[in-house]
Amino acid sequence: MSPEERLRTQDPREQYPKPPFPAQPQPAPGLAAKMHPQPDHGEESYRGAGKLVGRKALITGADSGIGRAAAIAYAREGADVAIGYLPSEESDAREVIALIEAEGRKAVALPGDIKDEAFCRELVAKAVEGLGGLDILVNNAGKQVSRPDIAAIDSEQFDHTLKTNLYALFWITQAAKPHLKPGAAVINTASIQAYEPSDTLLDYATTKAGIVAFTKALAKQLIKQGVRANAVAPGPFWTALQPSGGQTQEKVQHFGEQSQFGRPGQPVEIAPIYVLLASQEASFITGEVYGVTGGAGIA
Ligand code: NAD
Ligand code: MG
Repeated sequence: MSPEERLRTQDPREQYPKPPFPAQPQPAPGLAAKMHPQPDHGEESYRGAGKLVGRKALITGADSGIGRAAAIAYAREGADVAIGYLPSEESDAREVIALIEAEGRKAVALPGDIKDEAFCRELVAKAVEGLGGLDILVNNAGKQVSRPDIAAIDSEQFDHTLKTNLYALFWITQAAKPHLKPGAAVINTASIQAYEPSDTLLDYATTKAGIVAFTKALAKQLIKQGVRANAVAPGPFWTALQPSGGQTQEKVQHFGEQSQFGRPGQPVEIAPIYVLLASQEASFITGEVYGVTGGAGIA
């Protein structure tokens, strides 16, 4: 889809694919390249407007999904981008790196597991070294495993969900803080699950509520150094997180059907919020949570 096609006035309910989708199980963390239909991360459809010229951004989980859409948008807006991802996602990550470099921007590839504190600190250090500083931190990597009952969540899953979604947020942000100068921005990916937790996502929803509280407290600290921090709370988005264990295959086949749009969001449809919150256009915006839920709203 061209930028003209994406941005022309039209019924947004009809703009992107609707369920039913094919069942498409894949092992976690999943690859965007294996999804049917292919998600729109803005590869063809996002056009920049110079909103982040010269900025240096680190985005975790930027190989696929929402993070990939933010990475493409940031590069098109003029930023250099370091991307975090798991080593098994190298093929997805290579596509993102090629797209960033196609804009004439610098891409820094940072594979590794953020459940590990030492890696989190190394991730920030390597991003700062590779980019020559850090203006934008997007904590977006996340783990989601659907389980029908608390009895089915073992301690390992609980630990991995909290390590990935909360501990890493803490370690990475703590390491990044000394590098953030006035005008810098932190953006954390929360979820509608923070407000309307599903019975099948008990551990995940707990972390997402934690991310909201973390972001609000962090915002109060960081504004004292002229740095803003906000969260984004997505509703259903068509990403590899869902078919790779984030939902049952039955739910994947009907993913997004319950939204007011009758379809899931595509990652490019949330990228403009990540651009706004990173840019100086958001100069009076901090400690906020932006819902992009497909009409459900957040309270
Ligand atoms: P995604 O699978 O495309 O992206 C998540 C990324 O997290 C993966 O690509 C992977 O690189 C990274 N990741 C996971 N575990 C990691 C680890 N241990 N070490 C390093 N990286 C790791 O899916 P997405 O939906 O784009 O997810 C991005 C964020 O959006 C997540 O925080 C997710 O919770 C949140 N979210 C997604 C939805 C949705 O419907 N897709 C809804 C609400 C919130
Ligand atoms: Mg991925």
